[in-house]
Amino acid sequence: MPDLFIGGEWTAAVDGNVREIRCPADGTLVAVIDEAGPKDAAAAIAAARDAFDSGPWPHTPAAERGRLLLRVADLLERDKDVLARAESLDTGKRQVESEYDMDDIAACFRYFGNLTASGGTDRVVDAGNPQVDSRVVHEPVGVCSLITPWNYPLLQTAWKVAPALGAGNTFVLKPSELTPHTAIMLMRLLTEAGLPAGAANLVLGTGPVVGAPLTEDPHVDMVSFTGGLVTGRRIMAAAAPTVKKVALELGGKNPNIVFADVDFDAAVDHALMAVFLHSGQVCSAGARLLVQNTLHDRFVDELVTRARAIRLGGPFDPDARAGPLISAEHRQKVEAYVAAGLAEGAVLRCGGTRPADPALAGGYYYLPTVLDECTPGMSVVRDESFGPVLTVERFRDEEEAVALANDTMYGLAGAVWSQDAGRTHRVAARLRAGTVWINDFHPYVPQAEWGGVKQSGFGRELGPAGLAEYRETKHIWRNLEPKPQRWFE
Ligand code: NAD
Repeated sequence: MPDLFIGGEWTAAVDGNVREIRCPADGTLVAVIDEAGPKDAAAAIAAARDAFDSGPWPHTPAAERGRLLLRVADLLERDKDVLARAESLDTGKRQVESEYDMDDIAACFRYFGNLTASGGTDRVVDAGNPQVDSRVVHEPVGVCSLITPWNYPLLQTAWKVAPALGAGNTFVLKPSELTPHTAIMLMRLLTEAGLPAGAANLVLGTGPVVGAPLTEDPHVDMVSFTGGLVTGRRIMAAAAPTVKKVALELGGKNPNIVFADVDFDAAVDHALMAVFLHSGQVCSAGARLLVQNTLHDRFVDELVTRARAIRLGGPFDPDARAGPLISAEHRQKVEAYVAAGLAEGAVLRCGGTRPADPALAGGYYYLPTVLDECTPGMSVVRDESFGPVLTVERFRDEEEAVALANDTMYGLAGAVWSQDAGRTHRVAARLRAGTVWINDFHPYVPQAEWGGVKQSGFGRELGPAGLAEYRETKHIWRNLEPKPQRWFE
């Protein structure tokens, strides 16, 4: 069966191109997938445009749209195991992590299903004139290009697809060329749930070839992008000539601030999870550990002991606790950041190499790495390495902790650890980030907005603002008794 989904039909690429998808854990061939080109992108945009301008979806009552999203949530739960397996084969992440992702994805559809069905965002405005009926209504934006990364393929897709459909839009989805499978499966589930043809379209392929047209085409009204900073800048520029609405969820270099008065075991445990979850390939990874001087040595010693014990392995190895990086190219990038950090004076406390275990030689593995005595100017501290690399910096007091934490072009997330509630409250208020955790790291819920400040992007996903992102606001003024104004007499 072909893999592109355009106007309700499964189709191969016009140019006949295909791509091999290989599992990053061992290089085995997962599948050969149709690879779209600009002509396929144009066809998908035309189908989404037609479905928006002439199709039923934008005018389907909100309650019905909400019910469809709830049906999708049920189908995602029904197919959880198959979806999780497909996600793990594409990304190399542990099956158990993919299963958690699938639960979160179903919860996301359920949340937006209920939010959409509850309707009620339109409002009557007092125009100061009883002869006028003035209303503010919310409408879908139109055709949305949804462009997503490889680290949480279906999760990042769900954060866009569920609110986009809930608000009544039609869309063209382009997942990462490395991880197409769960996007294909989602199209089948949307169809099974009863979504009209053309409302959801899928093209597969690389960013420059098939992603770029989705950001430039005048028939597209909005681009919602999750991915790296450099691509985000490019997309913003590409969308400018046609003044599209743009939402950008970009990278992060997230501080994890640990004061000396913490619950030691909990803070160490969460610091590990913060950075090494999914081998550091998490936009909100706590990759910059800031530790108060007086706790530094004991904290880092314990962290290093536990990082050394993290067992690497493939998605279906029940003893593995972390998987491979996504590609050979990405691992080289991570290696280059570590080498640069060491050249700039960082102290290697563990990792810093590929694992010696021959059983892992076929995958893109890299050992959990801790670089101590780092300073703010180092590239490994400033840039997002997006790998299992923790940089450690010391601070004296609250003032210095906040200054170091905010000394970054990013502003996605951050955490503060202390048993002094007043202090955590003050620090949380001063961190320039879209999410701040106090005595925790990583949790999120679909009811709460997610997104960045500074160069981590703009716009919000999840929460009521995540739905509002896919809506336009219109003021309708109705004069019930029009009379001549005689302005020019
Ligand atoms: P990437 O920017 O390389 O690619 C993301 C997507 O954009 C892919 O589908 C890619 O094919 C496409 N693309 C690339 N060039 C394009 C172009 N010129 N026009 C249109 N589309 C183009 O990112 P990645 O390596 O896939 O993902 C990792 C990045 O994603 C990290 O920086 C991470 O922090 C970020 N991320 C952010 C969040 C968040 O919520 N803020 C969540 C997950 C990942």
